[in-house]
Amino acid sequence: MARPDPIPAYEDNYIWLLRDGPATLVVDPGDAAPVIARLGKTRPTAILITHHHWDHIDGVPELHARWPDVPIFAPDDPRIPIATQRVSDGDVVEIGPWRFEAIAVPGHTQTQVAYSGEGLVFCGDSMFSLGCGRLFEGTPAQMLDSLDRLAALPGDTLLCCTHEYTAANARFALAVEPGNTALEQRAAQVASLRANNAATLPSTIDSERACNPFLRVDSPEILQSLAKHLGHPPEGRVEAFAALRSWKDGFR
Ligand code: ZN
Ligand code: FE
Repeated sequence: MARPDPIPAYEDNYIWLLRDGPATLVVDPGDAAPVIARLGKTRPTAILITHHHWDHIDGVPELHARWPDVPIFAPDDPRIPIATQRVSDGDVVEIGPWRFEAIAVPGHTQTQVAYSGEGLVFCGDSMFSLGCGRLFEGTPAQMLDSLDRLAALPGDTLLCCTHEYTAANARFALAVEPGNTALEQRAAQVASLRANNAATLPSTIDSERACNPFLRVDSPEILQSLAKHLGHPPEGRVEAFAALRSWKDGFR
């Protein structure tokens, strides 16, 4: 199976590349130059877009101008006018040898989709390693539901997130669940990867289930931390998730 390759862009973005023989998939090209450089003499087979934010789509016009016949898959959102194919929840996207299913993952934005298949998931800014996207447009209940859907994928699924936020996320995760030994190990691994300027991604769904506090709002230790932070125990998973998300928003 082809291993997805993260191309660094801007401050902390990753544009994902997947290759198998002549087939090449480009996901969330926020910038064209690093993609064109990496493609060399080859061309993309298709472009996938998870959501409308500039750091995920600003490279698309230049790629489209260069390869006008390459299909551009994106959620049905007028803020992504350049798309040639619209996808919504449950749609199957077939590209070269690959087959992906679109999963609606609202929360960070209303129309965000993840593309799941071939043992991996391109999840945009919905889930990050040890974290999740900020709630710019959706509600905590929506985001929690989106994360639950991603967390239900097979444990060995490779999680291809679009930002290198893992080290900062690890600091918050350790603050809310200091007794989690799997998290401690992941944090140490992340520190050594970052010390070598290496990507901490892809992660796996198994690792996130064990370490990511936003998938662990049922953990007794996290509930205890939240009760301390809020001054009262959260009532139910949605309140726990909402409290965790807003705590993280202000965490430095
Ligand atoms: Zn975003
Ligand atoms: Fe982003």
